[in-house]
Amino acid sequence: MKKYALVTGGSRGLGKAVCLKLAALNIPVVINYQSNREAALEVQSAIQAAGGTAELLPFDVANATETEAALDQWENAHPEDYIAYLVNNAGIRRDNVLFMMPAEDWHAVLDTSLNGFFHVTRRLISKMMMRKHGGSIVNMTSLSGLKGMPGQTNYSAAKAALIGATKALAQEVAVRNVRVNAVAPGFILTDMTRELPVDELKGMIPMQRFGRPDEVAELVAFLLSDASSYITGEVISINGGLYT
Ligand code: NAP
Repeated sequence: MKKYALVTGGSRGLGKAVCLKLAALNIPVVINYQSNREAALEVQSAIQAAGGTAELLPFDVANATETEAALDQWENAHPEDYIAYLVNNAGIRRDNVLFMMPAEDWHAVLDTSLNGFFHVTRRLISKMMMRKHGGSIVNMTSLSGLKGMPGQTNYSAAKAALIGATKALAQEVAVRNVRVNAVAPGFILTDMTRELPVDELKGMIPMQRFGRPDEVAELVAFLLSDASSYITGEVISINGGLYT
């Protein structure tokens, strides 16, 4: 029996860094992505070149049917194994002031971050609860979900809801040896933040710099591991002192 990690949105940015970190800890990794197969293959190759195990599992987390079908397929191919570590990381931004926000952009952001969490977690959590070794889940929320960011009402709502879901679910499943925590990054250098005015924004951060994906991956790995065995229902900020 092998305990796998599934990282949604594992092809780029924070998800990629998490995949690389977990594989370096000898955890076999399932790399989910939506469409960027080339980027996902690069992550898989890097892990395999370092002697790790990585599989690709593309599906759209916002689509319940697609998510179920992909996870059914994975479980059929791995009858002995289970996904013991889940990182709900897939997310998108569609920034706009609320009065000009197209309904499509409101829904796309909630469908990915919040409904994506629901689709994947609901499908996997019963298996985690049934296994002796339990499981650990990390949800990728954001500073926006803690303090709210103007121009990101959709994104802030999705990330704040994910914090509520983290706290509620943690209490539901604690007795079954499953832990659920959230990570709330500030500004981290990835494709998602590439177009932001970095020089202007970094002046607001006490550490005077954006974070790196590998710094977030360290925190996620800690929360997934037994080193954090008495921590559940928590939201840990990682933001260079921007908001505490
Ligand atoms: P990114 O560089 O834009 O990468 C996004 C990842 O999510 C990609 O792997 C993408 O897959 C995947 N994805 C998007 N929609 C998906 C869907 N419907 N189904 C499956 N996969 C999907 O973003 P990032 O900066 O690494 O952000 C990762 C997470 O951290 C997000 O939840 C984001 O909200 C959160 N976050 C980021 C920051 C930051 O400063 N970067 C700060 C706070 C929170 P493809 O490659 O196939 O497109």
